[in-house]
Amino acid sequence: MISFYPGPSRVHDEIPRYVNDAARLGILSINHRSDVFVELSKTTIRLLKEKLNIPKQYTVLFTSSATECWEIIAQSLVRKKSIHFYNGAFGEKWFTYTQRLKPDSVGVNFDYQHTLKTSVTVPNDAQVICITQNETSNGTQVSNTIIRAIKKNNQHALVAVDATSSMGGIVLDFKAADIWFASVQKCFGLPAGLGLMVCSPRAVEEAKLNSERNHYNSFIFMNEMMQNWQTPFTPNVLGIYLLMRVLKNSPTIKETHQKILARAERWRLFFEEQKFTMLVSSDRARSHTVLVLQGEPEFILALKRKAKKAGFIVGDGYGSLKSTTFRVANFPALKDKEVNALMKFLKNY
Ligand SMILES: *Cc1c(COP(=O)(O)O)cnc(C)c1O
Repeated sequence: MISFYPGPSRVHDEIPRYVNDAARLGILSINHRSDVFVELSKTTIRLLKEKLNIPKQYTVLFTSSATECWEIIAQSLVRKKSIHFYNGAFGEKWFTYTQRLKPDSVGVNFDYQHTLKTSVTVPNDAQVICITQNETSNGTQVSNTIIRAIKKNNQHALVAVDATSSMGGIVLDFKAADIWFASVQKCFGLPAGLGLMVCSPRAVEEAKLNSERNHYNSFIFMNEMMQNWQTPFTPNVLGIYLLMRVLKNSPTIKETHQKILARAERWRLFFEEQKFTMLVSSDRARSHTVLVLQGEPEFILALKRKAKKAGFIVGDGYGSLKSTTFRVANFPALKDKEVNALMKFLKNY
């Protein structure tokens, strides 16, 4: 069974071998205050910065999930309010979760068929601008250029970016925002249970000014512990080890980016030829890593069922698009021959 679900998705072939290595090397039971862990954490962050092109002066924090990152931002970086620009279910969820902690936060919905405007209005008393770089529910994305412009136009606020289903798959311009986060079960091709939060020096400064210390995962505790390559809680050590091994083996993000873009283009041409309708018609608004196809509910239901019989899991629609769309991940761990096989199935369908 090959999972094209846009997260959790197909993991890298080497994962079972790496898990075995972790067991053999005693990684499964190391203490998270030990030198062995410190070395592992340090190496993982070094590789992450190297492979993903993350600026040296940025801080990387280990969390448990992207959802946890939403909450850390809300509790530790939003003093009074944040502003959320979203066009789909994940961005909206981030907004509603934040609103429970910071009721003054505001949400601005934009049309998913169009790109986010760089001229958006941000209130002067909003401390954080929240943008979902890759909206996994509808297969849209916000470009580095747009994120950079919004930051430039609103220098009073931090810019936080949910890149859960794109980090590790495409080139992200980390300098264009202050906080970027993701979990590893999407583009990193790893089992779930680990999140990454990439923070600019300014984000760290703001967190220190806010001095919010009410939670086990308050940003300043996380940052203080990371001075010694550690976390306030026992982290997912196996997840970190697997990430380290996968990163060690992976090409630079530039190379991965080109492969993902070329494959997204192949998919686009294929869908056009085969009369499948992509939900997002604008080339500039469409995601490279999550492809969303539209159709009649009965057609989609039957397609998913038959795909399963043929050995493929395609993603259900998400949120309000549940029955009218299906999703296909275009993540790096998926192999060309697997893509070819799914195309062949869809062609004969
Ligand atoms: C998957 C996803 C999340 C949630 O990730 P978790 O690891 O389950 O917390 C958040 N945002 C986006 C855009 C996602 O695709």
